[in-house]
Amino acid sequence: MTAETLNFNITYAAASRISEFDPQNISFGSVFTDHMLVADCINGVWQTPEILPYGEIAYNPALASLHYGQSIFEGMKAFKNENDEVLMFRPLENFKRFNISAERMCMAQVPEEIFIGGLEELLRIDAAWVPKGEDNSLYLRPFMFASDVYLGVRPSLNYRFMIIMSPAGKYYSTPPKVKVETEFIRAAPGGVGSAKCAGNYAASLYPAKLAQDQGYTQLLWTDAIEHKYFEESGTMNVMFVKDGKLITPNTSSTILKGITRDTLLQLAKSLGFETEERKISVEEIISGIQSGSVTEVFGAGTAVVVSPFAAIGFEGNDYALPEITEQSVSSQLKKALNDIRTGKVEDTFGWVWKV
Ligand SMILES: *Cc1c(COP(=O)(O)O)cnc(C)c1O
Repeated sequence: MTAETLNFNITYAAASRISEFDPQNISFGSVFTDHMLVADCINGVWQTPEILPYGEIAYNPALASLHYGQSIFEGMKAFKNENDEVLMFRPLENFKRFNISAERMCMAQVPEEIFIGGLEELLRIDAAWVPKGEDNSLYLRPFMFASDVYLGVRPSLNYRFMIIMSPAGKYYSTPPKVKVETEFIRAAPGGVGSAKCAGNYAASLYPAKLAQDQGYTQLLWTDAIEHKYFEESGTMNVMFVKDGKLITPNTSSTILKGITRDTLLQLAKSLGFETEERKISVEEIISGIQSGSVTEVFGAGTAVVVSPFAAIGFEGNDYALPEITEQSVSSQLKKALNDIRTGKVEDTFGWVWKV
């Protein structure tokens, strides 16, 4: 079974809804393309995937994932180049990470033919939904949940894998003020921080809300043991520029291995910047901001590529960062990555996947 030979049972939508979609005015995650993919794993055997008109699915109230949270997802993007070809960015990395998350959550492994083949088939059918233009993309959301109808706590015997797709536009934002979190944690050693599992996001909402009540946009998570070392920022990896060098925490069981993080590290090296993956303490960064050696702090993730921060709040004080310019390291990295993933410049890394 390969992506080319795998059969999908396809039921086309009677009519496209694309005329209802305004590419000039995209609100993230609220509009979905005409089709979706559904594949069921029944007692360890994957059934023929279905491509169906996008719509509601029925569920039983005893659906295991609703009660005990066996649920994982990925977030990726497709772009259109000048020639209207649809491009995915490093999709095999998302595929591999999905199955790593599945293993940690004791869920079924998804075959590449279904994950990658399904994305390709859906993107061919709904290609018209991939918006053109700078900063526009089609957000791809593969996800899987336990589909047993059973209230006992045990790994589900059945799983449903799905892919839905949603147009995404420019992410307008002024650089946010972020708070160093020293009470609540996102992940603990040995926990599930390195899995993209649904519960991690549920657990982050309450501390994020408290920070928002104090005037911060999001959190900078610190380690669970000492609250001394930076881990991630909201649902992104975190990176710093210190003495012109790109530094970021090394990944571990508490830090998600971001594909953007890895991509930016490689791009930084190719642009001639030094990079370091190591433990980075709050103290090092706060004193670096004060002395001027730390010039940039930013989040890195698929959604925004890089999100530079205006200030860091720590123990009641705000430490402001210099304003970002086109010469900033984060701006250079963002441009380099956007140019590759939208096909503007040649991809010498082998990252772009033409559908
Ligand atoms: C998805 C995610 C990231 C970023 O990963 P990318 O592959 O770069 O999109 C970072 N941290 C967390 C917690 C995430 O869920």
